[in-house]
Amino acid sequence: MSKEEIAAQARLLNKWGVPTWPKEYGGAGWTLMQQYIFEEELRAFPAKVTFGMGESLVGPVIYTFGNDAQKKYYLPRIANVNDWWCQGFSEPGAGFDLASLKTRAVRNHDHYIVNGQKTWTTFGQHANWIFCLVRTNPDVEKQQGISFLLIEMKAPGVTVRPIQLIDGGYEVNEVFLDNVIVPVENLVGEENKGWDYAKYLLGNERFGDAGVGTSRERIQRAKELASRTAICGERLIDQPAFREKVAAVEVQLKALEITQLRVVATASKQQSGTQDPASSILKLKGSQIEQAAAELMLDVIGPYALPDLSQEDPESLGEPCIGLHGLQRIAPTYFYSRAASIYSGSSEIQKNIIARAILGL
Ligand SMILES: Cc1cc2nc3c(=O)[nH]c(=O)nc-3n(C[C@H](O)[C@H](O)[C@H](O)COP(=O)(O)OP(=O)(O)OC[C@H]3O[C@@H](n4cnc5c(N)ncnc54)[C@H](O)[C@@H]3O)c2cc1C
Repeated sequence: MSKEEIAAQARLLNKWGVPTWPKEYGGAGWTLMQQYIFEEELRAFPAKVTFGMGESLVGPVIYTFGNDAQKKYYLPRIANVNDWWCQGFSEPGAGFDLASLKTRAVRNHDHYIVNGQKTWTTFGQHANWIFCLVRTNPDVEKQQGISFLLIEMKAPGVTVRPIQLIDGGYEVNEVFLDNVIVPVENLVGEENKGWDYAKYLLGNERFGDAGVGTSRERIQRAKELASRTAICGERLIDQPAFREKVAAVEVQLKALEITQLRVVATASKQQSGTQDPASSILKLKGSQIEQAAAELMLDVIGPYALPDLSQEDPESLGEPCIGLHGLQRIAPTYFYSRAASIYSGSSEIQKNIIARAILGL
């Protein structure tokens, strides 16, 4: 989907109000359960579930910690997708150990001068704003010297360099900040309190990212393809070995869905910004099942899974695509799914949380 198509879809759906925001800020005022159902239905359709990082990440930070001028300016623009936001947290050398970030912002009267590098910036090439964690005080404990700044991508000194992913697509970027002048009005909340806002932002993923709808749609697709594929004269869908494989993934998905509903029910009773450690089970199992479901589709179509990179890769040789029409996205989907166990907290990190917070180890 193009940026324009995503924006048009978001504007259409936002007629109800932004699904995850409170009514006073232009939200739909839905309960967490309503939000969950909405999101899962979009995923299962499948429709691209993205109102962008404006709606899900920076918007809640602005209405919770921002000042009135920031709320008045940014929130309606996010709701109407006038602005496209990206997230500038990760840096080379500051991934899961995010508090080690080095991008420096030095205050000079009414502005900051920002220097550093962000990486893995999703949709940085489309964004006109980036919300960044920057170091404003290098002389205190690392979590305490961080601030939350809003930076315009067109500001002089901002350079975006694309990174090609294993699926052939361009989604993530490196973002270089070279003497970028940022007005102090773009500081959210208090200087050096950015770590608290970042924790709130990350904790706002309150019912985790299980991707139940995504996996269900993939399994369904694998089954449909298997019903049209014959091996040795027998439909693949009728073969016991294949059915066993599908059943194993479906059983796990059902268990995941039940756990997800349990987490949503608990989260509904909790304060916003606090995360149920059970969300880590959802992320861990969710990404494993998402990967297994993508593998299932790949298994079914076998050699027809050869990817067609000519659409994505400007440097490709323009070779005609091999395989059946409509199947070319399956291999890229499989490859992209490998990233699911890294972004939003890797499997190792989720296991650490489960060991500490749930098993008490
Ligand atoms: C597709 C994609 C999109 C992304 N989009 C964005 C974005 O828009 N904005 C943004 O800021 N970031 C983004 N990220 C970055 C993502 O948040 C980081 O990749 C993540 O924080 C990990 O950082 P790292 O890659 O530097 O790995 P590292 O932190 O270097 O970790 C490397 C490995 O070590 C393991 N590890 C690290 N610490 C521990 C530990 N304490 N215990 C056990 N194992 C550990 C990890 O699990 C991992 O396998 C994206 C990443 C991907 C893959």
